[in-house]
Amino acid sequence: MNLERVCDVLIVGAGPVGLATAIALRQRGIDNIMVIDQTRSFRRVGQVVDILPNGLKALKYIDEQAYQKVKQVGLEFTKVRRQNSEGKASSNPQKRFWHQKNLQGKIIRSTPLVFEAWHERYNEGRVSIPWYDLQTTLRNLLPSEIVLVNHRCIDITEKDSLIEVDCLTNNDETLSNPFAYWEMSQADFGNTKSSDNITNIQSKTPYPVTKKFQAKLVVAADGINSTVRQIMYGGSDLKQWAQPQYSGFSAIGCLQIENVSQTIIQQLENQYFQDDKVVTLYNDSDSPHSENSERPRLILIRRSQKALGYLLHSPLDLDLLQNKVPEEIIHLAAKILTRAGFPDVFAQLINLSNPEVLIRRPYYIHPTNISPDSQSVWSKGRVVLAGDAAHGMPPFAAQGANQGLEDAAIIGHAIAKCLACKTANIVNNNALDNQERIDHFFRRYEQLRRPFMTVIQEATMQNHHWSQEKWGNYSDLVYSRNVADLIDNFIV
Ligand SMILES: Cc1cc2nc3c(=O)[nH]c(=O)nc-3n(C[C@H](O)[C@H](O)[C@H](O)COP(=O)(O)OP(=O)(O)OC[C@H]3O[C@@H](n4cnc5c(N)ncnc54)[C@H](O)[C@@H]3O)c2cc1C
Repeated sequence: MNLERVCDVLIVGAGPVGLATAIALRQRGIDNIMVIDQTRSFRRVGQVVDILPNGLKALKYIDEQAYQKVKQVGLEFTKVRRQNSEGKASSNPQKRFWHQKNLQGKIIRSTPLVFEAWHERYNEGRVSIPWYDLQTTLRNLLPSEIVLVNHRCIDITEKDSLIEVDCLTNNDETLSNPFAYWEMSQADFGNTKSSDNITNIQSKTPYPVTKKFQAKLVVAADGINSTVRQIMYGGSDLKQWAQPQYSGFSAIGCLQIENVSQTIIQQLENQYFQDDKVVTLYNDSDSPHSENSERPRLILIRRSQKALGYLLHSPLDLDLLQNKVPEEIIHLAAKILTRAGFPDVFAQLINLSNPEVLIRRPYYIHPTNISPDSQSVWSKGRVVLAGDAAHGMPPFAAQGANQGLEDAAIIGHAIAKCLACKTANIVNNNALDNQERIDHFFRRYEQLRRPFMTVIQEATMQNHHWSQEKWGNYSDLVYSRNVADLIDNFIV
């Protein structure tokens, strides 16, 4: 096995959180770092994410330049998107809100869409940005030689105060997609630690190369299916939490339905869109139709004169989604809406979905309330979890990446503080060799973040029942928050 390098900090995962952590560390003078990612090459994947005031404030704390660049790319993306959908920038203030409406078309909750409206209220704005553009913008702020693709972490072990990280890579450029089976499906995750599985991977990959890194600290930002978390929790009383849990909610959707009849379009326009381009609809009455307090919510999208799209978020048994052909899923979605009291026009629309591009996405969660706050579950020795690896959740409150940026800011600060710490028992003149200090700072990080993440996860799963007032209070709590103030008061 090739020993690649000994780093101060190795970051597993070049998603937004791993990259933001790398930027935070470099800004604070920690240069001997490496970021590894399993992807074969950086490519346009992922969805559009909203970076909200708390996330932007965290980014600003991490690095002013990263903040300015992400803001600029996000504002440009939003401008182009708005121009494409409206022909020109809208002057109608009504269109600058995302409305949630009931089945009578009455507005229940409004969320402003423009940067300035958020800035006025929370002292910071909001931008939408594709995941890939966020990743690229952050990646471009790092020297290219410290961010490695094609390195999949498969094992970590601690030896002599160093963490050894084993990776699989593949140096045969002629293979079209040798890592195709690495695209993780829900059925795959969880098995990477077992030697059986590694053998399996090696036997399937024609020319695998295993590489080893050594690092004083490892930040695991490898997403909700985190391999590092699975290894960390395996064989401990946290074993049952190694893999993410089904959240109970799934999405079914078709984002582009062409040639919708004018009858359907007019009915939806008159009662629900009312000039909006996107609305979220749900039944807010306690009518006999809604047999479940967990209401399905339908995001309806006006694409063009003749085209519509939708995304249904619904509580759903996982078995109802798995091993079904698309036509059965379409039928299921129509049935869910009819049962929840949606007028017949919605079932008519859903039945027009194109089976070939149907979205069916179960949402997973890695809960944060898996143990008392006093127990440390986000770090073990020299390894610490960040972002979705620590607290992945469905996107219903748009906080995953935002909270991950808060993690990155705090971890960057904590590690820099740890390094700067001059204590009597420092070995080799480097505080990263001092496990006691490392434990202290990683515990501080978790104390600051985990209880708050429990609040965020509860809001994520329950906010669709909330009144505008309750949502307003939650918004004030989350968006007014500035990670810089928290850090100054907390980490000593
Ligand atoms: C539909 C949808 C909409 C969303 N909308 C929002 C939103 O509006 N606002 C918001 O804040 N959040 C949103 N999110 C959540 C957001 O995308 C995530 O919270 C965020 O991407 C987490 O960042 P991360 O860096 O922790 O993990 P990820 O983005 O998952 O990145 C993890 C990285 O680790 C790599 N990796 C994984 N395993 C390994 C391994 N073994 N070895 C090496 N590398 C590995 C992956 O290739 C990946 O690059 C949304 C999510 C979805 C699905």
